[in-house]
Order: sequence, then structure tokens, then C-alpha cells
Amino acid sequence: MATVTTPAHASATKEPRRRGLPPLLLLFLYLGLAFAPLVIAALRGGPPRPWRDELASGLALVGFVVFFVEFVLSGRFRFVSGRIGMDTTMGAHQLLARTAALFLLLHPFLYTTALQPFPIPSDTTGQTSLGLTGPSILSGVAAWVLLALLVITAIGRDQLPFPYEVWRVSHGLGALLVAGLGTHHALEAGRYSADPWLAGLWLVLLGVAVLTLLDVYVGRPLRQLARPWRIESVERIADRTWSVRLVDERPGAFRFRAGQFAWFTLDRSPFSVVEHPFSIASAPADLPNLELVIKEAGDFTSRLDRLRVGGRAHLDGPHGNFTLEGRTADGLVLIAGGVGIAPMLSLLRQAAAERDPRPWLLLYGNRHAGQIVHGAELDSLRDRLDLQIVHLLGEPPPGWSGEVGQFDRAFLARHVRLPEMAGRLFFVCGPPAMIDTVERALVELGVPLGRIVAERFRYDWA
Ligand SMILES: Cc1cc2nc3c(=O)[nH]c(=O)nc-3n(C[C@H](O)[C@H](O)[C@H](O)COP(=O)(O)OP(=O)(O)OC[C@H]3O[C@@H](n4cnc5c(N)ncnc54)[C@H](O)[C@@H]3O)c2cc1C
Repeated sequence: MATVTTPAHASATKEPRRRGLPPLLLLFLYLGLAFAPLVIAALRGGPPRPWRDELASGLALVGFVVFFVEFVLSGRFRFVSGRIGMDTTMGAHQLLARTAALFLLLHPFLYTTALQPFPIPSDTTGQTSLGLTGPSILSGVAAWVLLALLVITAIGRDQLPFPYEVWRVSHGLGALLVAGLGTHHALEAGRYSADPWLAGLWLVLLGVAVLTLLDVYVGRPLRQLARPWRIESVERIADRTWSVRLVDERPGAFRFRAGQFAWFTLDRSPFSVVEHPFSIASAPADLPNLELVIKEAGDFTSRLDRLRVGGRAHLDGPHGNFTLEGRTADGLVLIAGGVGIAPMLSLLRQAAAERDPRPWLLLYGNRHAGQIVHGAELDSLRDRLDLQIVHLLGEPPPGWSGEVGQFDRAFLARHVRLPEMAGRLFFVCGPPAMIDTVERALVELGVPLGRIVAERFRYDWA
């Protein structure tokens, strides 16, 4: 049986370059930056203070750098997410935001030195007073309250009484305000931030935060304006599921790998904040045509019928590592729940276009038969691929001869035959609960975790 590693440029279609920094280098850079203020502070030294005061300052120094790096982590920069993946990047963003918030919110409560509203003139070293001035108390308190609000509203986002887009913009602007207020507080009141190197570092990081937001809300839309797409068709193809087809108006400008996704602005200006991430369901070989398979979920996806055919579309991408690139496999097992079929369609269509010789198994689950997407096309792919398809339905119609039930260990045990399939790669996409169940069951069945590649349609850890 053929074992194939898909190199970055071995596809029949021209593929995009991989632009991400290696994970170890990212970690090294991150740790170097996070601890840089501590090193500067240690080199600066100063008269001794109680350890709790030093801890309070240390937490603020590290927490503030970690906070600033959050702008870069959430800015969808491919040099960050290109190799480690967007879900890891967003997961890191959420985890590190909580770490930074914990450090910064604890910081004022750890000082043992009395809170002096004004620095004691004789205490030029900040040894017995915190050197707080009225404005620095104000900026510190305002930053503290806003930071707490940012974290609470991010964790409880789904409960907020306004749309995702409003939250997203307010989250970015709120974070910028915290950055500005925090920088003012550090420069005015910080014992160690009086060091010109540390003061310089805060100003550079503030500049990076501003530039990041400018790039996200101005630079990127401007670049997208130069690369318009046209909405070719909008069609309901299954129960609450739509196919949106786009055509690249500048063919050749966009390249992607099967399985990747992008953020799309449909029938709006690229400066609109209404953009949504969708997997690309078509194959790279289909370019300049591109298909999205979209399930109705909320405000935007429930109104796709209002999209104007012929209207403009723009995209930010490609992103994501749900691809075959660089992965060795002597066969593939695709496990799709509902609209999780979208990136699988791309993988299958590209494999068919390339006449991939390996065996492919598609396990495709839906609640009922009316939700099956592109069923006839999937069947016809079997003419060009060594492809086996198993449909699983929760509520089968009368006379259904396929599998019945949910993705569970028993179902997977019937179709994942080990060790025969030990050399295969397992791609999983669907609702978060389904992904968790499938991953757990596969590992219990003996599939190494490293052979499982999952794509989540939600980034939240909350
Ligand atoms: C990597 C990825 C690939 C996806 N691929 C597909 C796909 O191929 N087909 C499909 O039907 N769905 C896909 N989704 C899910 C899809 O993005 C959401 O269902 C859609 O954005 C919901 O928008 P709404 O306004 O209708 O619902 P809302 O109720 O406004 O949003 C529901 C949830 O969708 C998420 N969401 C909305 N807007 C954004 C945004 N701009 N950025 C990040 N998350 C957002 C948030 O978690 C939000 O809470 C994908 C999601 C991700 C992260």
C-alpha cells in the first residue's frame, strides 16, 4: 500500500507557502519577551523591599508583557499561527489572557508598603512608598476595572445581549484602552518602569498593539479591496444548510490547501466588522471557483438567502492546519458530523482531482437524511477514489439500511479496524461534543493521538 507524505509543494495545484515560525522558536521568543522586564528590573536593582512588594511588581511586569502579546496572538498573523494552527493560537490567546489578568488583577493587593497618594519626597528609591500620584492612581484603577470587565465579558460572551461583532470590536478597543491606561500607570508609578529601557519597552509594545489593531481593521480590509470575489450562487442544499459559491475576480491571487478555512465578508465592504470563519469546501483544483457549505447557526448564517448573487465578497486567509501537508499516511479516515463535512469535501475533492491512490473511509453522521450534503457527488467520487462511505443517522427514515445512532465507541469499533488502519490519518470535524467523543473513542481503540487531526468550529475554552 502506498504511504504518502504530502510535501508543501508536491500537489498538482500550486500551494501557498507555509509562513509560520517553528513552534520552538515561537516559545523561545515568547518566554524571552515575557521575562525581559524582570531581567531589566533585576539589572536595575535598587534598595531591598519586602518580598511581597517585589512579587507584586514582578507579576505586573510579566503580566503586562503577556497582555500586550495578546494583541499579536489574536491578530490572525500567519507567522504566529501558520505552523501551530489557529485553534492552538486562539487557545493560547484565551489561556494567556487569563494568566495576564490574574497577575495584573492581583498586583495591587500584594503590596505591603502603605498606599501613599503622593510619593514621599525623601523616598526617591520607592522603597517605603509606592510613588503613586493622583493621575497614576486613576489610570491604574481604570485599567484594573476595564481588564476585569474584558475577561468577564469574553468568558461570558454568549450571554451578552448584543451580537458577536459588537463584542469583538469592543473587546479590541477595550484592550487598547487598558494598554494605554496601563502604560500610563507603569510610566508614572512603576518603580522599575522608571528605567529608560523598560519605559521604552512599554512604549514599543503599546505601538505594536496600536499597529496590530490598525492592520486588522484598516490594513487588511484595504488589501482585501484589491482582491475581490464575486458571489456566484447561493443555494439551499440540505436542511438549514447552504452552498455559497464564489469566483475569484483576480484568478491566481489566492491559493490554499484542501481543508483550510478563511474569514469571509459576504456582500459587504471588507471594512465591515461582520465577517465569519468558514472552511473552504471546494478543492484547490477548483480555483478560481470556491464553495462554502454553511449551516444556519445565528444572526448571519440564518439570513444567507439575503445575499445578493453578483455581490462582492472578500476573504482573510487561508488559515488552518486541517490539511494533509507534511503528514505521512497510507490511507485516510474522515469522520464528519453535520456541517463538519465542509473541509472533508475539500480534502476528498482534491484527492479525487489528484487521483490519490490511497484508501479513504468517510464516516458521515447527521441527525436525519435531509441534512446530508452533496450525497450524490460523494457517491460519484468513488469512481475516482478508493473511497468507502458510511452514513450514520440519528433519526433514520423508514427502510434505511445504513448505520443508526451517534458517533460512539461501538460505531467506531465497527469501522476502524486496527492494526490494519494503524498507518492511516484520522481527520475529525463536527460539533465540539462529537469531536471530544470521537477523539476519546479512537484513542481507546488504540489510535495514537498523533494520528488524529481535529478541526473545531469554535475557539472558546470557556
Ligand atoms: C475554523 C472555523 C471553520 C468554520 N467552518 C464552518 C463551515 O464550513 N460551515 C459552517 O456552517 N460553519 C463553520 N464555522 C462556524 C461559523 O463560523 C459560525 O457558525 C458562524 O460564524 C456563526 O455566525 P452567526 O452570525 O450566524 O451566528 P452568531 O450567533 O453570531 O455566532 C455564533 C458563534 O459563531 C462564532 N463566530 C461568529 N462570528 C465569528 C467570527 N467573526 N470569528 C470567529 N467566530 C465567530 C462565535 O463563536 C459565535 O459565538 C466555522 C468556524 C470556525 C472557527
